[in-house]
Amino acid sequence: MQQQKKLDVPIGTTLRSAARVPIDGNYEFVEHIASSDCSPSDAERKLYLMRGELLPPCKRCGKRGIWKLTEYRFEIPPERNSTPYVLREIRGDRPDLPWPSGEKK
Ligand SMILES: [Zn+2]
Repeated sequence: MQQQKKLDVPIGTTLRSAARVPIDGNYEFVEHIASSDCSPSDAERKLYLMRGELLPPCKRCGKRGIWKLTEYRFEIPPERNSTPYVLREIRGDRPDLPWPSGEKK
């Protein structure tokens, strides 16, 4: 019998700025935590993060906000494939480090 691999992080999961994302994917800015007149552009609302990376604050005003997982995405974009994070944490060039960095299993 083949077991289907299930993703335990549903699309639409919301997370706050400064949280580590639980899964690779596209994230979208939903709203500010405190009420705000700031209105980020479409480009500023979209973000690709790999598991273990931190969600940033609002890209326009720098205040904390809520982000939503909108799409799973497991291939690493070429422009991200040589970052220290990928080299160390994803590709395993440093297998002695726990993964993701700083998080206890
Ligand atoms: Zn803002």
